[in-house]
Amino acid sequence: MRSKDVRPEAPLLPGRTIGILGGGQLGRMIALAGRAMGYRFAVLDPAEEAPARPVADVFVRGEFSDRAALLRLGAASDVVVYEFEHLDAEAVAALAESVPVPQGTALLRLAQHRALEKAALSAGGFPVAPYAAIARPEDWPAALRTVGLPALLKTTTGGYDGKGQWRLRTAAEAAAAEAIVRAAFRETGAGRSGEARSEGDAAGARFILERELAFRAELSVIVARRADGAMATFPPAENVHVRGILHRSIVPARVPKTVEERAVELARAIATHLDAVGLLAVEFFWLKDGALVVNELAPRPHNTGHYTLDAASTSQFEQFVRAVSGLPLGAVRLWSPVVMVNVLGEHLPALLKALPTLDPRFKVHLYGKAEARPGRKMGHVNILADSVEEALRLAEATGVWPELQAERENP
Ligand code: AMP
Repeated sequence: MRSKDVRPEAPLLPGRTIGILGGGQLGRMIALAGRAMGYRFAVLDPAEEAPARPVADVFVRGEFSDRAALLRLGAASDVVVYEFEHLDAEAVAALAESVPVPQGTALLRLAQHRALEKAALSAGGFPVAPYAAIARPEDWPAALRTVGLPALLKTTTGGYDGKGQWRLRTAAEAAAAEAIVRAAFRETGAGRSGEARSEGDAAGARFILERELAFRAELSVIVARRADGAMATFPPAENVHVRGILHRSIVPARVPKTVEERAVELARAIATHLDAVGLLAVEFFWLKDGALVVNELAPRPHNTGHYTLDAASTSQFEQFVRAVSGLPLGAVRLWSPVVMVNVLGEHLPALLKALPTLDPRFKVHLYGKAEARPGRKMGHVNILADSVEEALRLAEATGVWPELQAERENP
């Protein structure tokens, strides 16, 4: 969607209402930042106890597929944004007929479909991991031949935090993955051979097979961009994932300056190429040969930008509100080296126990979720210290994250 009517021409001033599709922690932190600026918020979420609900002026409880609920949110809002990408793009496009949706739906469609995203990046000349789209069961042998092992099988839609992903290192694992692929096509009966397909291979793909890259580090850059093309970027974060979930972000990233600069340059070029409005998070692999490869895009605030809440002069959430409201983007200055560590369900009891005696350099953010399931993001901690090494030592010394000690003992 690039039509003029979906983007507000005049700045949206405080006092107006920003509607958010999604009431998770990102929605909550957008609303907290925007409320401080004087905006009102309406939130749509299916969960009665959505984290953003207590900080919203209006709460619409409903499924994201429920068009009437979307319209109710639209009616309560002067502008609507989304805080996650697993939405029905058609429904969002329909909503954009009646209320501005500055992020648009074009990037949403890409970001929710791994094959479309990779195809768009490749077409734009941006580096991605070697991959093959699997639109029919019989695409499998050629995909395995071209990509080779080790590889990752990923569902094209619906996957997040390591879900919908299988790692293939051996022929036996490849055979098991093939069985998963064939079963998925059998279940729905879609994608049979000879079936007339109106869409291209990428759009019709149910899985992608992607080469597993031996990266030196993972990086991400968050770009804020307004509808008029003005941009601001946040310093690149070095990210460590454990079992497919972001464990921590380290800023400044421990990479050469030239790598940081190249990551920022690529992220800005991608945001411009895809005409992103709001925020675009670009995740990279920094390979052993020095190359940067784009892993994933997220057209919204991102977990790897949570460090900005305490360590930067403008947070990603404030910047998002500024970008979608058409206000000037805030200056971005890093106040201090910082390590952001996620607090998952399994970390919460130890964190709460440590809280009364926690080092004053820890800034604790909790999302108000009632149920602390393992792997569920309950909050995060920003540790501001004189160096990232010191912040990492402080995190480990708490004993809250056994992964830190395990990694040091077994790097
Ligand atoms: P994703 O959901 O695609 O971002 O994957 C989650 C995490 O899995 C990434 O941040 C990496 O740590 C790992 N991963 C995904 N794809 C690859 C790949 N092609 N090579 C190596 N690691 C990967």
